[in-house]
Amino acid sequence: MGLVKEKGVYIFEEFLDFGILAGFTDRTFPGLMVEDDLKAISSSLDFTYQNLHYLNQVHGNSVIYPKGNTRIYTADGLISDKKRQVLIVRTADCIPVFFYDSLRSVSGIIHLGWKPAKENILNEFIDKATEDLKVNLNESFIGIGPGLRKCCFEVKEEFLSFSCFSDFIEKRNSRYFLDMVAFLKKTFIDRGLLRDNFLDSQICTICNKEFYSYRRDKTQNRTISFIIQR
Ligand SMILES: [Zn+2]
Repeated sequence: MGLVKEKGVYIFEEFLDFGILAGFTDRTFPGLMVEDDLKAISSSLDFTYQNLHYLNQVHGNSVIYPKGNTRIYTADGLISDKKRQVLIVRTADCIPVFFYDSLRSVSGIIHLGWKPAKENILNEFIDKATEDLKVNLNESFIGIGPGLRKCCFEVKEEFLSFSCFSDFIEKRNSRYFLDMVAFLKKTFIDRGLLRDNFLDSQICTICNKEFYSYRRDKTQNRTISFIIQR
């Protein structure tokens, strides 16, 4: 996979081939005021947008279709078949997941922490996309932004009792680490995604100081991830 970096924003090259702008910010952007950052991003990357849609993220499993001029939704996922809508999540360790179905022109974004994952937000998202918008995962792409990786995603021993994660926990020196990316990859591949269409930035927010990490720095700043069908 390829990422291109322009003025503090990383863009997935594979999505560009379909006219999709999908990417995430580094620490150049504070990530506190979504609208200010998006204005700066859109002028530096030269794109126009009609509607910003972002989330009051509550670590649940709701996935929402943005409608009209409503900007903020209480949910952890957005999905859209409309052009020029900007779908946004904010993270500092949770994983931003980007989705695009090239045949149906459906885009989506998910805020994936362990709670939404455990509450099955990925299958909620896939069910909505396939049932309502006739998405075919064989024709879809998944992009993974910066987040906690198995090198650093330490979890409590009680995670062993969460059956959804049991295949994805590694024990190292009496500590437990969750491989959330493997969990998410398997979930999508089991539903039909092609391996080659899983585009992983491989960026760990704790290892890579170019990105915000709540665990490392207890910061209020956030990485802004966005996807737009132009
Ligand atoms: Zn790491």
